[in-house]
Parts: sequence; C-alpha cells; structure tokens
Amino acid sequence: MSHCSEVVRYTYRLRPGVQAECALLAEWGRCRWLWNEAVHQFRSGRKPTLAKLSRLLTEARKTNAWLRDGWQNAQQATLRAFSSALHHSFSVKGRGRPRVKKRKGSRPSLEFSRNGFAIIDGRLRLPKGTLIPVVWSRELPSEPTSVRVYQDSLGHCYASFVVRREIEPLPEVDGAIGIDWGVSTTATTTDPGYDLPHIGARKAAAKDLATAQRKMSRRHRPKGQAQSQGYRRARREAARVTKRAQRRNTHEGRVWARKIVTDHQLIAIEDFRPKFLARSTMARKAADAAIGIVKRTLVEYAERAGRKVVLVQPAYTTMTCSACFARTKRLMLDERTFVCPCCGLVEERDRNAARVILAVAERGHTSVESVRHTEPPFEASGAA
Ligand SMILES: [Zn+2]
Repeated sequence: MSHCSEVVRYTYRLRPGVQAECALLAEWGRCRWLWNEAVHQFRSGRKPTLAKLSRLLTEARKTNAWLRDGWQNAQQATLRAFSSALHHSFSVKGRGRPRVKKRKGSRPSLEFSRNGFAIIDGRLRLPKGTLIPVVWSRELPSEPTSVRVYQDSLGHCYASFVVRREIEPLPEVDGAIGIDWGVSTTATTTDPGYDLPHIGARKAAAKDLATAQRKMSRRHRPKGQAQSQGYRRARREAARVTKRAQRRNTHEGRVWARKIVTDHQLIAIEDFRPKFLARSTMARKAADAAIGIVKRTLVEYAERAGRKVVLVQPAYTTMTCSACFARTKRLMLDERTFVCPCCGLVEERDRNAARVILAVAERGHTSVESVRHTEPPFEASGAA
C-alpha cells in the first residue's frame, strides 16, 4: 500500500496575555500599512513586483523606527500575500484587485513563515520573545511550515498551522450505504443505525438566538446614530450563539462521518446543493448550512480513506421505488410514507430515497434517469 500525504491546516485557539495581544495588534497595524502602501503603488501605476516591494520594505525599515520595531517576518509575508493576491486578480476569474484594508472592517491576521515562529514548551513563540499559550485540542501531525495568527469577530485569537499529514487508506470493508439529506433528519441512510438526527438550529440554540435578535431590534437606533452599548452587547451575544452552534455541528458531523467511512466501502451520497431562495425560512437556511458542512466532511474523509464515493443527483430519488424502480406521482412534502403502486412496497419516504441513491450507485450510475434509460426494467423480487 503506497503512502501519500497531503497539506492541510490545523487550527487552535490561542490565549494571548494582554502584552502579547497588544503586540499582535500593533503588528497588524504595521502590516496593514504595508499592504495599503502596496495597493497605493499599484493604483498609481508603479507595477509593484515582489522584488520592488521587498526593496521598499528594506528602505522603509531603515528610515522608520516604527516599522523596524515590528516583526520583519510578518511584514515580508504581508507583501508576499499582496503579490499573490495581485497575481490572482489577473489569472483567476472573478477575483478583484487587492483593496485597501481599513482599520474598521478588516480583521487582524498575520502570517509567519518557518523562520518567524517556533513552538516552545507547548507555546507559540513569535518574534521578539512574544509567547502565546495554545489550546492543543488535537495533536499536530507534523512540524508546521507556516502559521497564520488571526482574530475573529468575537475577539478570539487562533493559530492556523500548515502541516503535512500522511494519508493511510483504511482496511477494506464490504459495507455499502446510501445517504439522503433532509431538514428534519439531517441524514437518512439505508441503515437506520447510521442516521444522523437533526443537527443545527436546535431548539435551545434557536431560542437563544431569537432572544438576542429581539434585544437587538429593540435597541436598534436609526441609521446615522451611533448604536448603544446595549445593542452592541446583544449583537455580540447573537454572534456567540451562532458560533457555538456552528462548532457543535462541525464536531457532530465529524464524528458521524468517521463512523460512516470506517464501516462502508461504497458511499452513495445525494448530491445536495442548497438553493439560496429569498423565501427560505431561517430553519431551512440553518439546515442547508448544516448539510453543507456534513457533506463536505464526509466526502473529504471518504476520499482520504480510499473509499468509493458516488454523488447521485437528487432528481426523482423521492418518487422512485427502491425495490422495482417504478416511478410514482410526486409526493407532497408532508407525505412521509412511500407506497409503490407496482410492487406494493411501503417504506418511510427518506429511507426509500436513500435506498434509491444506493441502488443507482451500485449500478454504476449517478442519476435515476440514466438507470431508467440504460437498464432493462427489473423484477421486484430480484432487487428486494
Ligand atoms: Zn415498487
């Protein structure tokens, strides 16, 4: 079995002290200044190549004590990031030119290459002796080659390490499973023991969020007026509730995906794509977001483990019989039971859909339509 490896990011919470946080924010100020200077150079037609920008940095550090006091490694990384952003704005469709980073509205983020940081006694050491405790929620798979230190909207700091991870295929197994996504049950599978009950926007979280949002709207001042302390507190609370729910979804999704991947060689997944309809309810949006996260995780884990993943188009999966492949009339959304008029199969609607998805994949197809067009009709007894 050949070993391969992949480059991934591992992210950990940081708990900087007051001094370290001040140092981080001060450096962010310098790097932001450099970035904006580069944007200015470009806009005034001076074609800022990385070489030119590096010379500019060297000069500026000579004459400018404020810049010299900062962390050269992070400053160089800022220019490299600008340079690649500029390059991508020409080569990648839909990418805009690098823009000025304003003090408000841009989040602190610093990049350090291998020489700019170290891990010493479990702490992250940044230049000039800055030490930051790390919450090691899991082990690093290898020596990191670079790290991005950033702060989120809640003021929490994180370190995102770039590491190399070995891919070791899991031992082969026989199992095959079909997966259908839904709002009330996030994942219904061919085997009830593997269903993933509803995650995301659970009652408690939804209630907390609603409370915070009501508070926000009560305290909201008209446009043009500064928002009150109470409004900002409520907004922070709403963000915290959302974040907590997201973190829990991600965790539950990972645990579930690992179980599915360990026990099955063939994994047939409904190729769900959320429709961003203006009319969709909050519950629908939350469910769609949760499905998106879980689906991505499952595909990633399955591919890493060397499993066969088949994405099956959702069309007709709920109105096709999993036993005889006959097509029935469209079910109403509140009809939870599938009844086949041809072979008499009675099955829970989503369970039947999961079985159809698996049957399509097992026949080497990716849609119900292509099975119907290429395969002869089969007998209920043969398929059941
Ligand atoms: Zn049937």
